[in-house]
Amino acid sequence: MLNFTIGPVMSNEKVREIGSKQVPYFRTPEFSELMLESEDLMKKLLNAPEDSRCVFITGSGTASMEAIVMNGFNKDDKVLIVNGGGFGQRFVELCQLHEIPYESIDLEISKDITEDILKNYENKGFTGFLVNIHETSTGVHYNLDLISEFCKNNNIFLVVDAISSFLADEVDMSKNNLDVVITGSQKALACPPGVSIIALSPKAIAKIEKNNCKSMYLDLKNALKNGERGQTPFTPAVGILIQINARLNEIFENGGVESETEKIKTIAEDFRSQIKDLPFEITSNSLSNAVTPLHPTTASADDIFNILKDEYDIWICPNGGDLKDTLFRVGHIGDLTINDNNQLIEALKDMQKRNLI
Ligand SMILES: *Cc1c(COP(=O)(O)O)cnc(C)c1O
Repeated sequence: MLNFTIGPVMSNEKVREIGSKQVPYFRTPEFSELMLESEDLMKKLLNAPEDSRCVFITGSGTASMEAIVMNGFNKDDKVLIVNGGGFGQRFVELCQLHEIPYESIDLEISKDITEDILKNYENKGFTGFLVNIHETSTGVHYNLDLISEFCKNNNIFLVVDAISSFLADEVDMSKNNLDVVITGSQKALACPPGVSIIALSPKAIAKIEKNNCKSMYLDLKNALKNGERGQTPFTPAVGILIQINARLNEIFENGGVESETEKIKTIAEDFRSQIKDLPFEITSNSLSNAVTPLHPTTASADDIFNILKDEYDIWICPNGGDLKDTLFRVGHIGDLTINDNNQLIEALKDMQKRNLI
């Protein structure tokens, strides 16, 4: 199997080897030490300001999105959400569910945010800004510098879902004044799904401490308190946390966040140069290194996904809903090589020969 989806992605041998072992008991100094090390490594990778914290939530990325909506905001807030696709819509629904006052910037599909759009929201009393910095559903990487400048000028608390962008694109908490960054285990961290990570600036920690959260499992005050000693309030996905720790250490041994991002960028650029002769159009003009969104001009996107899966044992990422036939995505994260790209291109060229695309 060759997996070009955007999560779960392929894990390397080291991570898979850990997955084959027995899962240890976790209320031990050894596990606490591992967790404190992971927190420290995460903070370094994100260039988090001093006194920031990271909590590890057992639950996929959406659990952390919900946790931050519930713990970070209340009825006195007014939140601005960038809604350009499936993940932006998820933040909208979370704010509806938890009765957080919000407005959404509904972007045209496949379009980036602009200065002109943001101008309409200046000085309107917003207290929070929620954005999926890479809207993975359509492969649009929003302009973080622009958003961060807007939030700074308007004194707005900035929450960035970087679940598919972390390690693939620059995510620098200090440079861009990010108050909260969310990521997950199954994207560029290339571990199994089940754990998401929330990085919190000192300002975010203070906001959460002041707020009243009505949840037992997703109470971040409790997670922060237990995290001080390298523990979690409840039994976490221990095995995945051990895999994450190994991956974080490996990223540092291989030169840190820049070289990891460079590796993903190289794979993405190789793929994008190799598809020039195929009947596909790249639909986003603001790409993340993590994903290439493609519109096939001669066939159904969903058919291409199914044929690659069933006849070539290669997985790309289909889209749902209205985009089912018009858009598919190729991921560049996980344990992929240029040779893997070559195999995918060969399969696509074979499909072209068979008049399937
Ligand atoms: C993958 C992803 C998520 C998380 O989805 P889960 O299925 O809950 O892990 C959230 N936001 C973005 C931008 C993503 O790419």
